[in-house]
Amino acid sequence: MLAQNRVQVDGIVAQDADTIIDTFSKIMLDGQVLQANAAYYIMLNKPVGVVSATRDSQHKTVLDLLDYPFKNQLHIVGRLDLNSSGLVLLTNDSRWSERLTLPEQKVAKRYLVTLENKLHQAYISAFANGMYFAFEDLTTKPAKLTIVTDYQAEVELIEGRYHQIKRMFGRFRNQVIGLHRFAIGHLPLDSALALGQSRQLSAAEVTAIF
Ligand code: URA
Repeated sequence: MLAQNRVQVDGIVAQDADTIIDTFSKIMLDGQVLQANAAYYIMLNKPVGVVSATRDSQHKTVLDLLDYPFKNQLHIVGRLDLNSSGLVLLTNDSRWSERLTLPEQKVAKRYLVTLENKLHQAYISAFANGMYFAFEDLTTKPAKLTIVTDYQAEVELIEGRYHQIKRMFGRFRNQVIGLHRFAIGHLPLDSALALGQSRQLSAAEVTAIF
C-alpha cells in the first residue's frame, strides 16, 4: 500500500515503512480516514479549594470546572495543592505532558507567594543553594526567589517536590498564606481568565511553552 502511494500521513503521501506516526497523526488510506484524533491543551485558573485530580469524593475537582465534550480524555500536567491557585494545564497528549515534566527539560514554574512574616535577603541564597529534605533524602535544585514586597515573593522552581514551596519557607518558620502559579515555562496564565475559568491553548502556545 505504501509502494502504491495509497497511504497519507498528515496530508503527505507516506512511502517509507519507517514513517513515525503517533496518536495524533491523521492517517488516510485510499482517501478514507483511518485515524484522526485531536490533541487538546487546556489552561485553567484553578481556585483555592479545588483539587488537582480527576476524581475526588470530598472536593470539587479541576475537571468539574471544565465544560468541553472531550474533558474526560484529559489528564493533569502538574498538580497544585488544594489551597494553591493559578495555572493548571490539562491535555490528552502524554508526549507533551511528559516533556513538560521531565527534569532534564528544566521547565520553570513560577509562583507568587504571600507569607505570614516579613521576608529578608537571606531567603534568596537559601533558595538558590537548595535545601536538604531528609524525608526524600535530596537537596532541592537551585530556585530563584525575588522579593516583591515585605510579604510577597516570586519563586521559580524547575522541579515539583511535595509541598515544596511551603516546606522551603517552613525552614524560616514563615508560613505560606497564599500561593498562586502564574507561569509554566514560557506560558503565562492568561489574565483574562478569572478563577475557575479555562480556555484551549493556541497551536503557537503549545510549542512556545518550552
Ligand atoms: N509548592 C507547594 O508547596 N504547593 C504547590 O501547590 C506548588 C508548589
